[in-house]
Amino acid sequence: MITMTKPHANQEPGASSKVPARGMIDNVMEQFNSAADHIDLHPNIRKILSITNNEIVVHFPVKMDNGNVEIFTGYRVQHNNALGPYKGGLRYHPTVDIDAARALAMWMTWKTSLAGLPYGGGKGGIQLDPSLYSKSELERITRRFTFALADNIGPEHDIPAPDVNTNSQTMAWIADTYMSTRPPAERTANQHVVTGKPGGSGGLEGRDRATGYGVYLNIKCWMERHNKSLKGQKYIVQGFGNVGYWASHFMEQDGALLVAVQDAYGSIENQDGLKVDDLFNYSQSNKGSIVGFSQGKAIDNKDFFKTNCDICIPAALGNQITADNADSLKATLIAEGANGPTNVDGEKILLEKNIAIIPDILCNSGGVVGSYFEWLQNRNGELWQLNEVMAKLEKKMMDSFDKVFEYAQNEGLDMRTAAYCLAIRRIEKAYIERGIFP
Ligand code: GLU
Repeated sequence: MITMTKPHANQEPGASSKVPARGMIDNVMEQFNSAADHIDLHPNIRKILSITNNEIVVHFPVKMDNGNVEIFTGYRVQHNNALGPYKGGLRYHPTVDIDAARALAMWMTWKTSLAGLPYGGGKGGIQLDPSLYSKSELERITRRFTFALADNIGPEHDIPAPDVNTNSQTMAWIADTYMSTRPPAERTANQHVVTGKPGGSGGLEGRDRATGYGVYLNIKCWMERHNKSLKGQKYIVQGFGNVGYWASHFMEQDGALLVAVQDAYGSIENQDGLKVDDLFNYSQSNKGSIVGFSQGKAIDNKDFFKTNCDICIPAALGNQITADNADSLKATLIAEGANGPTNVDGEKILLEKNIAIIPDILCNSGGVVGSYFEWLQNRNGELWQLNEVMAKLEKKMMDSFDKVFEYAQNEGLDMRTAAYCLAIRRIEKAYIERGIFP
């Protein structure tokens, strides 16, 4: 038996006190606590993991195109680094606040641990609606945010990546700004301060499709375990960004039918199937929106989850499947491309109805696994080929799926609780081996 006490409060900017329970935080804490109960987690480790290590909140001025200055608020929450540097995305969205960043950072800790990566968990972003800003404004906002975060990020300390409304361009700006502010001899050695960069700037071939490919592989593995094939399976996708599009792309290759899509602007349906690449091309020419696509008929947003289908892929924001709509879902499998799309109350209803859920920390972990490959590639001065990346990703995703599926079966658990148990166990082991300083 180890004896540990809570670590001293961290001195970094905005170091956290106790995490309050509400919204997504409420969900992640309930999920964590039920798994911790199941594995009888050491109470001291439960205390440590219930709290974030550091919370950085920055306010910074940016010059707009019209010459005015606007003040923005950015966040970076570093939940836990027992297994390695903090890792996780930066999102640009009006819903970004300290609680969202805390919850999302915690999910990253479980995700990286479950995937067997040498990383902890962090998350952050800026509270803004990027559609209201020009590209050059977004560039200045991103660069100034990076400057404000300063030494709170770093290639061996905290490594951001794309998330909602950020992409390889955003990462290129961050890498460039970060490297420009290092002493000359260290500049290029810091390229891996972010992952998800463009190909010409140290990015990994295939990182763009890694999350969606992982979602598809998880669904495929689940189908195989249930002696089913993807051919003819009807699926719906919420969010047609990077994750939703690539997951659909691979699902279609295996003969599954995309029958409804919802994005931030509306919902469309066609029970005979929507062609994935046609829809993608249409949305690219339509300011990123799927609305008005000729192959689908518009449906009411509130009817989207009621659409007749076999598989549902929520790949947008958190708290989308709740007690309000879980009962009307037709799918028999939910594959969580987003982080936290199903809340605890929604999940109870789904599980009672025998609807399976492949949990976010497993289902969408292809992105961070791809990030890990990119980080290794940069660190070792290598360039990996696409087929090599996809093969390595496939192996890693399938191993994780098998581990979670088998643990769930053996312990009589749902897949989320099983995934949490495995993730927490790995962190617990690190604490037990190392103890608590001093
Ligand atoms: N934003 C992605 C996630 O939520 C990727 C994070 C990363 O690659 O660090 O998993």
